[in-house]
Amino acid sequence: MRILVIGGGAREHALCRSFSLDPEVTALHCAPGNAGIAEVATLHAVDALDGTAVATLAQTPRVDADLVVIGPEAPLVAGVADAVRARGIAVFGPSAQAARLEGSKAFAKNVMAAAGVPTARSYLCTTPEETDEALDAFGPPYVVKDDGLAAGKGVVVTDDVAEARAHARACDRVVIEEFLDGPEVSLFAVTDGESVVPLQPAQDFKRAHDGDEGPNTGGMGAYSPLPWADPELVQEIERTVLQPTVDELRRRGTPFSGLLYAGLAITSRGIRVIEFNARFGDPETQAVLARLHTPLAGLLRAAATGQLAAFPPLRWSDEAAVTVVVAAHDYPATPRTGDVVEGLEEIAERDAPEAYVLHAGTKRDAEGRVVSAGGRVLSVTATGSGLSGARERAYAAVGRIRLEGSHHRTDIAAEAAEAADEGGGPADTAR
Ligand code: AMP
Repeated sequence: MRILVIGGGAREHALCRSFSLDPEVTALHCAPGNAGIAEVATLHAVDALDGTAVATLAQTPRVDADLVVIGPEAPLVAGVADAVRARGIAVFGPSAQAARLEGSKAFAKNVMAAAGVPTARSYLCTTPEETDEALDAFGPPYVVKDDGLAAGKGVVVTDDVAEARAHARACDRVVIEEFLDGPEVSLFAVTDGESVVPLQPAQDFKRAHDGDEGPNTGGMGAYSPLPWADPELVQEIERTVLQPTVDELRRRGTPFSGLLYAGLAITSRGIRVIEFNARFGDPETQAVLARLHTPLAGLLRAAATGQLAAFPPLRWSDEAAVTVVVAAHDYPATPRTGDVVEGLEEIAERDAPEAYVLHAGTKRDAEGRVVSAGGRVLSVTATGSGLSGARERAYAAVGRIRLEGSHHRTDIAAEAAEAADEGGGPADTAR
């Protein structure tokens, strides 16, 4: 199988790493990629938001892709999957219509209401009066969400009504909703628009600093599985959230095929959807794929070609995985780029294969050195028997990275590892 991956973050590096280990994959291309992906795939330049350009790249003889995998949300919402599909190439990623599940919070709420999927009560507001009324109706803590795509940074959760109002005023259309208490879970499901195959659940860490302090980010770390979760959790989410959502979109004539990502809160009143995404999440993907034994290419092709019902059950490692993101100086505010990243060879020599680096914002400079080129520069993923072992390995590798001004959280999976150490190994939530 010849694969073209679109995107250039650590998620795409994780996807490319899995493809590079899959014996069925005979050629691997990525556009635009990054310095780490360049080690396992041939890189190409492309405007990832231009469907015609992506489809043309997929068809150039050098690439000649059997399967195109679109990583980020922006190309999906822009209709890049439609453009590729229109040329008769199998593509893993939803149509623009179906990707509205991520592209518009109001659309997602509408689908959930129609499908009977549990989520936070909410109001869509377009005027200051409506906003104030909704804020009053729910009271603190206030949850104010930009209706459109905002790279994970369009949500403000605050006790300060002035801050809530200010965020609402800065957006065109906002969704204001009730606050959901309880731990968060990220669950990915591969779907062909009909059948749903959930992966194992993960948890991510959105705030910049230890103890969930500081601003919201794209994600600073993740782990999987969730030793504290009910072993029935995945089946329950499949039954009450994933399948009804996929069924509703098919019923509307806009089937969702690709990766359906449910961000959920496990509240005192049950499971509630916080949001849907239309693609693999970063950094959860790094932790989840580290444990998936089933070769990835065949699974994604089955989804892209409507063959998922016949796909055999997924196979998972018994080990746990932890991912720690190393971010640039002053991320997420105004990340500095151009700093040299050192220590990568040392990790490859001393920590692999249990721990490895997945690049996000990196490139090679004129002298061939790896330098930072984005806010989240790289992530380290490690596996181990239990979260404690995986954590130790991940942080040992993170400790070898030298990147001036960088920061990372030191408490990724700490609480869950401690709880698991007291109560036994990670719970087996495999389906
Ligand atoms: P989202 O972009 O919708 O994932 O929101 C980003 C983060 O804001 C989530 O991961 C949650 O931590 C938080 N959040 C969003 N909606 C709610 C809610 N209704 N109640 C509590 N926290 C929320």
